[in-house]
Amino acid sequence: MKNIKKLLIANRGEIALRIIRACKELEIACVAIYSEADVDGVWVKKADESHLLDGDPIQAYLNGDRIIELAKKIGVDAIHPGYGFLSENADFAQACIDNGIIFVGPKPEHIALFGDKIAAKKAMKEIGVRVIEGTEEPISEDDTQEAKRIASEIGYPVIIKAAFGGGGRGMRIVEEEATFEELFETATKEAKKFFGNGDMFVEKYIKNPRHIEVQIIADKEGNIVHLGERDCSIQRKHQKVIEISPSPRLSKTVRKDLYRVAKRAMFRLGYENVGTVEFLVDENDNFYFIEMNTRVQVEHPVTEIVTGIDIIQRMIRIANGGKLIFLQEEINFKGYAVEFRINAEDPMHNFAPSPGKITTYLAPGGPGVRIDTIARKDYTIPPYYDSMTGKLIIWALDWTGVVKRAKRALDEYVIGGIPTNIPLHRAIVRDVDFINGNFTTNFLDLKLEGFMEDMKLDIEKEKALYENNLSDDAVVAAVFGAIKHMKNS
Ligand code: ADP
Ligand code: ADP
Ligand code: MG
Repeated sequence: MKNIKKLLIANRGEIALRIIRACKELEIACVAIYSEADVDGVWVKKADESHLLDGDPIQAYLNGDRIIELAKKIGVDAIHPGYGFLSENADFAQACIDNGIIFVGPKPEHIALFGDKIAAKKAMKEIGVRVIEGTEEPISEDDTQEAKRIASEIGYPVIIKAAFGGGGRGMRIVEEEATFEELFETATKEAKKFFGNGDMFVEKYIKNPRHIEVQIIADKEGNIVHLGERDCSIQRKHQKVIEISPSPRLSKTVRKDLYRVAKRAMFRLGYENVGTVEFLVDENDNFYFIEMNTRVQVEHPVTEIVTGIDIIQRMIRIANGGKLIFLQEEINFKGYAVEFRINAEDPMHNFAPSPGKITTYLAPGGPGVRIDTIARKDYTIPPYYDSMTGKLIIWALDWTGVVKRAKRALDEYVIGGIPTNIPLHRAIVRDVDFINGNFTTNFLDLKLEGFMEDMKLDIEKEKALYENNLSDDAVVAAVFGAIKHMKNS
């Protein structure tokens, strides 16, 4: 590497560990930060250097000034922000630059543009990308009547969204006028709580869409390629649960158009580093831009696996002035990859976060299995952060193979002591519509109720084992025996 010799990771959890792994392979020294609640985090131990940021456990990762101050003191050349936290904060990116530190990500102006979903839609529309019909100016929180007028103009159902939203929050579907005011108020409250801004917009609600996103990567010289698409239609409360690359059911022409549109738009804007252009594809194969994420995504591993390209390493190299070393034609896509987000959530209590101590941890292995996680035996998941603790990523040559392999790996995966959403994943991979690649964003809304009974049995069986304090070996024997018995009955 030319300039970057030491890189600070302004994040925590599995993505911090992921960035450490990239740094080790690039032979760059990596610096971790951690809060008082994260003393036992595995990334804290694996980094070359780790620094405690005391005080509030969430602010530790959000106080950009303090992080930059530390970075300067210890001679850091670059900062990687991961996802969440400061990753989409244009002021932070600018502050890094102003302090002579390389920000591993896009230009601040693009972070700012796409952080504002209304401005983003406007900019994309201007360069010829189809967007969903809706408000073109922000509606302030007390302008309920104006919002309602626009909604009836668009025609119900509509969706209310937070202009600065993310992570599925600040969003409400409104089926009819009678419930508009109430839902506008709850969405606005949520937006203010999570994003500190109550600006809202209203757009047409697309029925039964698929969420398809295109991964873009661009260097500073205007070379730009796509790394294929991801199908993130399996969602709960507008949040991704499973992500797949390529999409198992997308026509060749739609796929080609999506790539072309995404690439052209990013070229026109002079975008650099990585980004994800998110689209909804409707029942008639029309597609619409919904938003752009100006950072690495949680689900980047599925793209890494089907292309063989290390996205985190590429981000760092590009930030360092490196050119893309491959042309579009040189990127080969091979097979299918699926990611299962492993969340500390209780499926029996409406997926409420379930932090706590992991007492049993038995990870799957074998062909086509990748795990990016901070979970391990005797680790206590702190209660302050996102419930996603890791990801199981499965690869196989074809769709049928990947589903079978996922089923096998999920059956092998045992996390005890706390509830997780693994039982949900096990139910999904056994569902005939999932197996046939036949799903849209309403998949879980339709199916969850039907999965309850299987999930309950699954959970009760495993729980009985931990409560009896069995050894890991005994748990393995009992879990696999139990599954066999279930199939035979
Ligand atoms: P993806 O990378 O697929 O877009 P998410 O939308 O779930 O994944 O967001 C990734 C992470 O960032 C999650 O931990 C989520 O809680 C967090 N996050 C997303 N948007 C925001 C935001 N605006 N503010 C704070 N955290 C966010
Ligand atoms: P976030 O920033 O929270 O990721 P997005 O705008 O990307 O928000 O939307 C998240 C999800 O919400 C989409 O993947 C989709 O399932 C749903 N959604 C968003 N807008 C619409 C819409 N206009 N019609 C139908 N579903 C939508
Ligand atoms: Mg999104």
